[in-house]
Amino acid sequence: MSEPNAPQRDTDTGTPAGFSRRSLAAQAMGRIEPETRAVVMPLHLSTTFIRDPDNGYSSGYCYARPDNATVREAESVLAMLEGAEAGALLFGSGMAAATAVFGALEPGDHVVAGTVMYWALKRWLREEAPRRGLTLTFVETDDTEALRAAIEPGRTKLVWIETPGNPLWTVTDIAAAAEIAHAAGARLAVDSTAASPVHTRPLELGADIVMHSGTKILNGHSDVVAGVLAGAKADAFWERIRGIRAGSGGILGPFEAYLLMRSLRTLHLRAAAQSAGALRLAERLSLHPHVSHVLYPGLPDDPGHAVARRQMQDGFGFMLSIRVAGGEAGAIATAARVRLWKRATSLGGVESLIEHRASVEGPGSPCPPDLLRLSTGIEDTGDLYDDLDQALRGAHGD
Ligand SMILES: *Cc1c(COP(=O)(O)O)cnc(C)c1O
Repeated sequence: MSEPNAPQRDTDTGTPAGFSRRSLAAQAMGRIEPETRAVVMPLHLSTTFIRDPDNGYSSGYCYARPDNATVREAESVLAMLEGAEAGALLFGSGMAAATAVFGALEPGDHVVAGTVMYWALKRWLREEAPRRGLTLTFVETDDTEALRAAIEPGRTKLVWIETPGNPLWTVTDIAAAAEIAHAAGARLAVDSTAASPVHTRPLELGADIVMHSGTKILNGHSDVVAGVLAGAKADAFWERIRGIRAGSGGILGPFEAYLLMRSLRTLHLRAAAQSAGALRLAERLSLHPHVSHVLYPGLPDDPGHAVARRQMQDGFGFMLSIRVAGGEAGAIATAARVRLWKRATSLGGVESLIEHRASVEGPGSPCPPDLLRLSTGIEDTGDLYDDLDQALRGAHGD
């Protein structure tokens, strides 16, 4: 006779802990569906669940807005990847995830955020913070002393950093930011979209919350919009964020969660290939006559390189930017001439994307007008370089 609570078969609770993140992600935690013994978890589309005769919900599910079984499966992989003790929460977009964190603050709270950060989130903060009674200070968070000076002890409740920071790929020292935030009684949240859990694990460096746009490399195939938060501690703040997701209806749909979970199985392969390609492109473009500057933390002379070496593993990410010698007109003309790179916004997909970022961000952005943002996919790196080379030469009249 087995113990009443012991798993009936060895794989019912998934692959045992102790294996690497890469192994667990490849198997999406290795749980086996009990009824059919399938190795892929089913897609649960049901919005509602049967109440037991004793009026309880023994499955733990009641209605699909607060929680959903397929969403939970994907969350378990993300929590494992980030080492998140409180678990992970999936949202309908990266913006929905990020704004839930600010929504959990109280009127009167002060927020310190980076000058270099995702443009749409910065715009939202500028518009919404005053309406919510929040005060804001933007600071160059890659300058640790400037970050320390921006803190208002007793009033600062959240420090929000993005590293590497879009679209200049500046690197903020996560461990130093955590120490500064905690010394002032504030939380540290990190938008780690451009690093992915493969290259950086902010919670291990002292952060309280990690945010990702799941739309980017986590899903990686440009066919899902999603957002993730992962938490270090299931404290009252984290529970408030969970309540905001349930109350505002911000949860990710099950089909998107299913696609995201499928993508997470190949995350390590994609991140390694895309980061290796980005480094190779950064090195070669640094020598290009029509490129005045390459912004990529993997380059030894990049100002963020030393910190990036400390807090990033197995590569420096798939994102880089170039400044084009011919200025804004040269940059736009280069983007117009690519044939393999796709001229589109977004990042992290298996197809490489190029974007004239200043056209998107508009006035007030730290993005210089001669900058092209490059998201490296999994195509042949030689093809990607040759295509940029012919576009740069064509744009400069070679
Ligand atoms: C895309 C992105 C976001 C917003 O995510 P959505 O899924 O588009 O809402 C936030 N931060 C960074 C760094 C991003 O690249």
